Amino acid sequence: MSYKILTAEFLHETNTFSRIETDAQAFHDCYFLTAAEAISERGERNTELAGFLDCGKKYGWQIDHVLSAAAGPSGKITAAAFDWLAEPIVSAARDQHYDGILLGLHGAMVTDFCEDGEGELLQRLRAVTGDKLPIAITLDLHANVSRKMCALANIIVSFKTYPHIDMRETGAHAGAILQRSLQGEIRPRTIHAACPMLEEVNGARTDSGPMIEWIRAARRWEQRDDVFAVSINGGFASADIAEVGPTVLVTGQGDMEAHRAFAKSLAAEIWRHRHDVLNDYLDVNAAAAIAAGFVADKGPLIIADYADNPGAGSYGDSTNLLRALLEAGVTGACLGPLVDGETVQQLLQHQPGEIVQIKLGGKMDPGFGGGPLDLPVELISLSDGHYVGGGAMIGGLSRSFGPTAVIRVAGIELLITTVAQQLLDLQQFRCFGIEPLSRRVVAVKSMQHFRADFEPIADRVIVCDSGALCTPNYKQLTYTRVARPIFPLDAELDDPAMPLPG
Ligand SMILES: [Zn+2]
Repeated sequence: MSYKILTAEFLHETNTFSRIETDAQAFHDCYFLTAAEAISERGERNTELAGFLDCGKKYGWQIDHVLSAAAGPSGKITAAAFDWLAEPIVSAARDQHYDGILLGLHGAMVTDFCEDGEGELLQRLRAVTGDKLPIAITLDLHANVSRKMCALANIIVSFKTYPHIDMRETGAHAGAILQRSLQGEIRPRTIHAACPMLEEVNGARTDSGPMIEWIRAARRWEQRDDVFAVSINGGFASADIAEVGPTVLVTGQGDMEAHRAFAKSLAAEIWRHRHDVLNDYLDVNAAAAIAAGFVADKGPLIIADYADNPGAGSYGDSTNLLRALLEAGVTGACLGPLVDGETVQQLLQHQPGEIVQIKLGGKMDPGFGGGPLDLPVELISLSDGHYVGGGAMIGGLSRSFGPTAVIRVAGIELLITTVAQQLLDLQQFRCFGIEPLSRRVVAVKSMQHFRADFEPIADRVIVCDSGALCTPNYKQLTYTRVARPIFPLDAELDDPAMPLPG
């Protein structure tokens, strides 16, 4: 029998501290693809959709893909943009008969009218499908997962890697569980255990530290006959919402109390390690001092500007690291991106080779990451910002920084972009004429994803906190909605010996 499956991808990681509202244009700036466009662009890449389509082929499904849309992490989604994307998914589910629904979501979506965007979408879907229809969703490892999401989706599978390189595998995993449900073989539901923390203390790194063993334990529990997926979500801390933080999910059946006890035991481990930070967050001057004296034997020094990562909703226009590198006289360096569309528009009035006086960056919120720098710069090149990724995360996928300029100031080449995007793929430099391998120092606005493509070429990697919006020092932010007490905001939870509350 051929099952008819509705699929869609609708992803946003909402940084509620960002001043930039997320409207329809923000989705167009990242991607908004109709069914045919999505299948052509994403169907054979490392995406959730590719995993859904793999299942479609394997199980002989008839797939109706509604749309694929994502905006770069930014502020709350407007009601108009949410309705614009949710409505076609919900009306498809209402107007036609489907045997199951399979959605690629992020799990940290906040709109200007509700804190739980994914819960809202699932609720609208359940209103037209009823309770019986199996719904499977995939989530990012940085999902904030609500009780509502677990109650409304039968099947939840999150990525197990950070840097995220298992999108297709995760999509196929969720699809395989859905297939078994459709055949009446299993009746899964999802339970959840949470920790009163803003996020897993290492942002859910899976390349080093305790998460490696926790993921192994999750894989082992998945081997049980009555367990179909175990997901460990690191949470997303830049969200001032009630249900923020790390969660452990079990999608299973049978003895749900045993699954709950297992989920709680992993949550307790996350809690127990809450002080064990893997990154050494240097201040920008310490990072610049290392860069100034660095001898690139085996490749460049990579400096990650953790706090100004556009991939977590920071503006990407923080100037603190650049200022420190300039003051330290660092040469043979490149930095990207520095997001400043206004400056790109100014540079578009000039020719490559000209020296232009600019006021660079620091315009969105100078209180986080430093104000604008007045600089004479040499214009190297101008472009439309389009590139195609080459690494494990976005290989083969087309993206655009919008109007983009490359400039040189002292010994540093800068990629100045209009659209804020995390720097995580070598092609994001190379497509604009900057070769990271021939640089002594490469500074990237990224927390962890850069490691997938840049660590193999690096002599050394250091991480700094520039004080920008995604600073790991959460006490710089004003949280009003999160449930208190919460780690690390409240001193009463600091005692390392304290067991997981609840
Ligand atoms: Zn993520």
